Amino acid sequence: MNTGGAPGDHSGAGLADASQRSLMRQILWVTGVTLSGFSILQFLSGHPWFATLELLASSVLLWGAWRIIRVENLTPWIYLYLLPTFSFLIYIIVMPDASATAFVWVYTIPLLSYLLLGKVRGFLLTTPFVVVAVTLYLQRFQIPQSAAGLIDLGNALLCGVLVMVFVHLYESRRAAAHTQLKRLAQIDALTGVANRGSFQNALERSIQDAQRRESRLVLVILDVDHFKEVNDRWGHDAGDMALRHICDCLQQRLRVTDSLGRLGGEEFGLLLRDISRAEAEPLVQSLREKIASSKMQYGHQLIPLSATFGLAEWPTDSLAADELYRCADKRLYQGKQLGRNRVIVHDDLYADLAPD
Ligand code: GH3
Ligand code: MG
Ligand code: MG
Repeated sequence: MNTGGAPGDHSGAGLADASQRSLMRQILWVTGVTLSGFSILQFLSGHPWFATLELLASSVLLWGAWRIIRVENLTPWIYLYLLPTFSFLIYIIVMPDASATAFVWVYTIPLLSYLLLGKVRGFLLTTPFVVVAVTLYLQRFQIPQSAAGLIDLGNALLCGVLVMVFVHLYESRRAAAHTQLKRLAQIDALTGVANRGSFQNALERSIQDAQRRESRLVLVILDVDHFKEVNDRWGHDAGDMALRHICDCLQQRLRVTDSLGRLGGEEFGLLLRDISRAEAEPLVQSLREKIASSKMQYGHQLIPLSATFGLAEWPTDSLAADELYRCADKRLYQGKQLGRNRVIVHDDLYADLAPD
């Protein structure tokens, strides 16, 4: 069963979107400013055409830094920046009067790729560029014959390999930690189901989805009956166990497309997608019966539990998530007033089924 996790989650690929945009903006600024500095140096060393070209590229980069926050899809922009930048880095190590130390710029290729694209795409982009850079460098400067020259070359290559390995290890761990943190931020620690924030997001996404597909959905809010008594009579541990027990009962009967979340205390939310009020009612009644009929085993004791359910249907009860929530909550409260352990599906109280 889905506990309300975000579909289309790209947590493994580089940084999260907002930080990726701000990072990309900083990188574009830094590269733009650096390149304009280089264009002055090129001009002073008698290469006016090259200086003009660098100044133009620098202007494009600074324009990109201003624009990047508002673009819809960031990934093509990242490639649009990385591919010419890496090609330029390779050019400066093989251009006619290139310095042998220009090769150090190649070390920035894995850093930028992994930072902006994540582990897999970062590796796939880095490898061909680094292979081409090393091959062209060796063609241009030849493999040295002296021991000192070989040591220089060995230093350069080994340092490059280590930069790649360390960046790869760092990004793997960062992505795993990010995924874990994101998961922890979305689940309720006691029951393992979605927490309130993540359930709320799932509800809003489901409403948009239902709107697009012109389908229905049902929001159910349930509250455990006389839960304070469970804590008072059997202790807080028994109360915690009861909350997990209720989640188990609910999860056994729900479809994979449904979501369950803990809204707070002993109150839970159910999101039943592609279903009408009339179809949802028998399902919710069976959930109520399941909770009421399966007493929870606590040591040698059996603890009776029950819950009251309020139900609201999108779009007939309301179009907005918060109004739908209020509607289900109001019916839950009506159920409590009517004696608890029941399901209220609309505001006509006498039409609702009383428990057995
Ligand atoms: P009603 O049928 O009207 O809902 O009565 P109730 O006793 O369930 O409601 P009330 O709001 O009076 O009490 C809820 C209790 O739930 C009080 C609070 O201590 C307990 N509670 C809230 N969160 C937790 C939790 O995480 N673990 C445990 N064990 N108890 C909790
Ligand atoms: Mg209660
Ligand atoms: Mg309550």
